[in-house]
Amino acid sequence: MRILIYGGSFNPPHLGHIRSVQTAIDALQPAMTLLVPAAVPPHKALASGSPTAEQRLEMTALAAVEIPGCEASGIEIGREGPSYTADTLRELREQYPDAELIFLMGTDMLLSIESWHDPVYIMAQASLAVFARESGREQEIAAQAVCLRRKYGARVYQLTGQPLEVSSTQVRSLLPRRQGREYLCEGVYAYIIRHRLYEAKPDLAWLRERAYAYLKPTRVEHVRGAETMARALAERWGADSGDAAEAAILHDCTKKLTRDEQLRMCEKYDIIPDKWELENDRLLHARTGAAFAADGFGAPEHIVNAIRWHTTGRPDMTLLEQIVFLADAIEESRKPYPALEAIRKAAFIDLDAATELCLRRTLAFLEEQGEPIHPDTARTREYYLKKLEEKGASPIPWAAQEK
Ligand code: ATP
Repeated sequence: MRILIYGGSFNPPHLGHIRSVQTAIDALQPAMTLLVPAAVPPHKALASGSPTAEQRLEMTALAAVEIPGCEASGIEIGREGPSYTADTLRELREQYPDAELIFLMGTDMLLSIESWHDPVYIMAQASLAVFARESGREQEIAAQAVCLRRKYGARVYQLTGQPLEVSSTQVRSLLPRRQGREYLCEGVYAYIIRHRLYEAKPDLAWLRERAYAYLKPTRVEHVRGAETMARALAERWGADSGDAAEAAILHDCTKKLTRDEQLRMCEKYDIIPDKWELENDRLLHARTGAAFAADGFGAPEHIVNAIRWHTTGRPDMTLLEQIVFLADAIEESRKPYPALEAIRKAAFIDLDAATELCLRRTLAFLEEQGEPIHPDTARTREYYLKKLEEKGASPIPWAAQEK
């Protein structure tokens, strides 16, 4: 029986790893393939801020799902000290005395194997399979294979195939820039975003696809409009337009839930709704949406808060909160309401004046409808009115034709 073993930091596992292991499986037809993340990689220190060993194991398991017959092994994660391949092979040899163990590696690892802990034992116990990480190094690999054969009696399988030239280092540097998704399988990417490993920010096309799945189809136009407006406002006022887009994409992610579903979500996320929120479904979705964006999509605090306050607003909102609050109210597909055009215009001239007018019109509308008014809305309006006074600016008159 052949057992293929693929060790690495898998920080994170990427499509280069998957291509490599798939090529090895096709060529060697092992009965079992193990992806073995190292707890403490002896060859290279883990980059600072790296995920825990358990998280790397979980990601490796998600990558293994992509490859039939492959599984992730925690054999090194459970061991103290440096994760020496020789120790792993010793454990596997005890478990499988008659198996041919084949240790798969990339070019860099083959070239450095003599510096590993106990290379003699490694090459006595396992055959080596090598897959070039980059094109054009076949001769170098072949020469090293000859050398290892002579010196250690090593058995080396030189695999051929088109490599995918990518490294975990490269992926880690792309993720905070909302890039790099193309090098990861879906499960691993979703995991990284959910836990915001590597300071990752989601690719916005990916986020849209995932977040829209939680919307009623009729709400998509509004969410698209809110994103466009949030980006425009962010550009106008010097906020991060990616963060503004992310918050806008997620802001209504629990809007379609029924009251019962909202309340169940409140329970799950330890949200205690106040009496206004209990009376009015429209208020609750801002709180459950914020909690769900954090849990499901790993949204960081500043984005969670922009979602949390997008309906009522709050005094002294951050720039991002104010942008999302207004973008929701004035995006292009909003049905006309009194003062809409004035708020839209003001949003690009004086954000506080636009916020005050928007809140003033909400209060008037609620009063007219006889609906209860959440004190946050009233308090927020008062705060922005005072802020305008302090700046020496006048509130925007409510144009007669818009009443
Ligand atoms: P880092 O950039 O953090 O050093 P890495 O991309 O080199 O990580 P590791 O987890 O350290 O990935 O590598 C595990 C094994 O996978 C090693 O044998 C390595 O040579 C091999 N490998 C890594 N990337 C590729 C790739 N793109 N193609 C083929 N093999 C690869």
